[in-house]
Amino acid sequence: PATVIDGRALAARLREEVATQVASMQEPPGLATLLVGDDAASEIYVRNKRRLCTQVGMRDLHRHLPADVSQGELAAIISDLNADPAVTGILLQLPLPKHLRADDLLALIDPDKDVDGLTEASAGRLALGKPGLRPCTPSGVIRMLDSAGVELRGRHAVVVGRSNLVGKPQAQLLLERDATVSICHRHTTDLAAITRTADVLVVAAGVPHLVGADAVAPGATVIDVGIHRTDTGLCGDVDTAAVAEVAGAVTPVPGGVGPMTIAMLLWNTVEAARLRSAATAAAV
Ligand code: NAD
Repeated sequence: PATVIDGRALAARLREEVATQVASMQEPPGLATLLVGDDAASEIYVRNKRRLCTQVGMRDLHRHLPADVSQGELAAIISDLNADPAVTGILLQLPLPKHLRADDLLALIDPDKDVDGLTEASAGRLALGKPGLRPCTPSGVIRMLDSAGVELRGRHAVVVGRSNLVGKPQAQLLLERDATVSICHRHTTDLAAITRTADVLVVAAGVPHLVGADAVAPGATVIDVGIHRTDTGLCGDVDTAAVAEVAGAVTPVPGGVGPMTIAMLLWNTVEAARLRSAATAAAV
């Protein structure tokens, strides 16, 4: 049976690393989380991010705005946060209420404070291989592969899903590491025939148990990004119990990619502080 890559333990170690770096900084970085309205799931996500932000010694600069905040008001708040030297990172929690245009608001975030790595500027930097802040979930996946000792150079990595949040940046990050990358999506013909050729398979399709044992090569590393609430608990896009009989390594749901995503957000906030001090030093 496959090795299980323990995302919880890795995330805890990464947070310790972040805490050590924060402790060595003159000023603790500040993470501004913006929550609009009262979506229950978003409230839980933001609460977790804030709790861990405080735990690693960073400043928790949270703003909770009413559901009827206007586009202009929110834009003005983002501009203030961009200009505020105490704010190292800005996270606009999605989804936003329907009357707000999320894309236009994300575009206002200073790319050097874009700790979610989701703005056009950050996506452009990633596409061009320039330094910048990378999206948390796919960069957390790369960390997991590294810590499991999975070789990427020259290997066939297959990504299932092409969202701007996960699939697309995942493919680019794997490419940056010299993997040969295939991207599958909802129009792919014979998905299993392609995933069976993967040395490394990252599944981010949002379909419960999309990938079964017949879709995985013996010894492959299978990373499950999906997360679904069911009557019997959480499950992912991979039928982990079945796939673990074939694969070399798998990630569990829960306790896999999820905890790594938040740890990477904290890591990105420290990275944002580093990018800024490098920019300041260059300007002197
Ligand atoms: P999305 O819905 O934006 O994108 C899904 C992608 O999968 C699309 O590109 C689509 O073409 C592809 N797809 C859909 N059905 C398919 C099929 N049958 N075969 C092949 N491809 C198919 O979703 P997303 O935002 O990328 O998230 C994907 C999953 O990951 C969701 O379950 C989400 O909840 C989860 N997620 C988890 C974390 C985490 O931290 N663990 C973070 C982000 C997303």
